[in-house]
Amino acid sequence: MDSNHRYPAPKAGAIAARRRPVNMREFKVKSMEASIEKEIIETLFSYYPEEIEFISEKDPFRFLVTVILSASNTDESAEKCARNLFSVLPDPNAIASADSNQIEKLIWSGGLAKSKARSIKALASYVVGNGKIPEEIDELTKIPGIGEKTANCYLGFLSRPAVIVDTHFARVVSRLGLVDAGEKERDKVYKLVKKKFPERIWYRLSMVLNKHGRVYCKSRDPNCTSCPVSKLCPKRRSSAQ
Ligand code: SF4
Repeated sequence: MDSNHRYPAPKAGAIAARRRPVNMREFKVKSMEASIEKEIIETLFSYYPEEIEFISEKDPFRFLVTVILSASNTDESAEKCARNLFSVLPDPNAIASADSNQIEKLIWSGGLAKSKARSIKALASYVVGNGKIPEEIDELTKIPGIGEKTANCYLGFLSRPAVIVDTHFARVVSRLGLVDAGEKERDKVYKLVKKKFPERIWYRLSMVLNKHGRVYCKSRDPNCTSCPVSKLCPKRRSSAQ
C-alpha cells in the first residue's frame, strides 16, 4: 500500500448533513413527560453551537487512532499523543510494521500505553490488510481494541447515526431523566437512547449532552444555578432557581 495513502475523508454531503439543524418535529410528543423532554432537548440544541467537535483531526485513520488514545484521557492529551505518534509513524503501514514498544513510548504520556499501542497496531494492520476502515459497527467492533463507544465516535465522524455513551453523556442523560437508567449503566443507556429517540438526532444528542456534561453538569459539582435547563431538570440542586 502506498505509504502516503490517505483514507477517504467524509464526503462533503456527509459533512453538510452533520451541520444541518435537527428537525425537532421528528421527536413526537405523546405525554406531559415527553413534552418536558422535548423542551429540554430543544433548549439544549439551540443553546449549543451546531458544530461541536472534541477531536479536531479530519483524516479518518488518524481520527480513529486519536479516539483510541482518548480512553481514560483528556481530548487535549490524546491529540498530543497522536501528534507524537504520527510525527514518527505517519500512516497505517508505518504503524503496522513498527515494534509495539516504539508505539508505547510515543503515546506513553496519555496512559494505558500498552493496551492502546496494541489496539492502534491492530487497527493499522487491519487497514493495511483490507485497504480501508470498515463503516459498519459490527465490522468496526471486530477489530481488537475497538469497542462500541469508539466505533460510534467513528460513525458520527462519518455523519452516520451514532449514540456515543461516554461518562459525560451517561451522567447527563440520566440526571435529566431522558432515560430510566443510572449514570453508571452505560449499556442500558445506550440501548434505551437508541430505542427512544429518532436516529436523526442521535449524534447531535450525543454531542450536545456530552458538551453539557463538561460545561455545566459536571460530575461532582454541577452548576445548576446557571444551567439552561435547570427549571426542567428533575435532579437540579435545590439552591438553583
Ligand atoms: S440542573 Fe444541574 S443536574 Fe440538572 S442538567 Fe443542569 S447542571 Fe445537570
